[in-house]
Amino acid sequence: MIDFQYVRAGSVGEAVRLMAESPGAKFIAGGTNLVDLMKMHIERPARLIDVSRLPLDKVEALADGGLRIGALVRNTDLAYHPQVEQRYPVLSSALMAGASQQLRNMASAGGNLLQRTRCPYFYDVATPCNKREAGSGCSAIGGLNRMNAILGASDSCIAVHPSDMCVALVVLEAKVHVTGPRGDRVIAFADFHRLPADMPERDNTLEAGELVTAISLPPQGFATNYTYLKIRDRLSYAFALVSVAAGLELDGGRVKEARFALGGVAHKPWRNAEAEAVLRGRPADVAAFVEAADLVLREAKGFAHNVFKIDLARRAIVRALSQAARGTPQSQSNKKIA
Ligand code: SF4
Repeated sequence: MIDFQYVRAGSVGEAVRLMAESPGAKFIAGGTNLVDLMKMHIERPARLIDVSRLPLDKVEALADGGLRIGALVRNTDLAYHPQVEQRYPVLSSALMAGASQQLRNMASAGGNLLQRTRCPYFYDVATPCNKREAGSGCSAIGGLNRMNAILGASDSCIAVHPSDMCVALVVLEAKVHVTGPRGDRVIAFADFHRLPADMPERDNTLEAGELVTAISLPPQGFATNYTYLKIRDRLSYAFALVSVAAGLELDGGRVKEARFALGGVAHKPWRNAEAEAVLRGRPADVAAFVEAADLVLREAKGFAHNVFKIDLARRAIVRALSQAARGTPQSQSNKKIA
């Protein structure tokens, strides 16, 4: 572990001021990813600004019928919050599919958004990695890339974003609330994470010194027809090979509104507006779901060890949408289809 200075912020304003004073510092909340990264010398902040005691740990109803989730709400508390379980079950299900109970007890909602990729070369400081050290090269492109991206990758990086929660949040069209040296701003969830292009060291669109303070959800939660399907190598404590969050609004067996997104396949949760549009007005059947899946995956590209993910993703989309249409979501607590 490296030497670092530790300071605890007493308010959001103080946290932002402390960060502005010390470029290269890091905010820490649950620390479930950052501490590992520091132990492995991947992150070497000279200063840690502890934001874990800030008053950002509430889930509150919004006047428009939506929900505001404080950035410090623990993943477990969020998954079991009655408003989330009843009105946004796809979010609850995605949270329960992630990590382990112990990690969910510590991890914060804001930190979940900011976790880094689990590409093995990113964690191996003996190998080149453009995300860890810009310009050094990408070991995964010609190496072991079974878990890597099939969509949106670049010649610089083929990493995937590891979060389950974020796949549900992009389907719910959440917003991310941030505060920084230049004041407050709100970022549409789809714009929060970025594709690697030629700057894979940047995971998201946060500006220097900005702190995530909350996530807000609109009223539509797809509480009746939803699913979060996660395909992984073992049934718990594993990252997704492919995951799908889906929400449908049905009207007499036809699709009125459709949203779905993939996890484990790209540098950000992957949503495709054209594929969703093709479902609107159609009978909620396998033929329509296959067409939508083909649209999402027509630009997919595999590497030596992960070509299988293209067909896996196609099948996962069809299965997730079918489960959502039937109202039989995947259970994340007993890992069986209800
Ligand atoms: Fe690094 Fe990205 Fe390449 Fe993995 S895929 S080795 S994170 S540059």
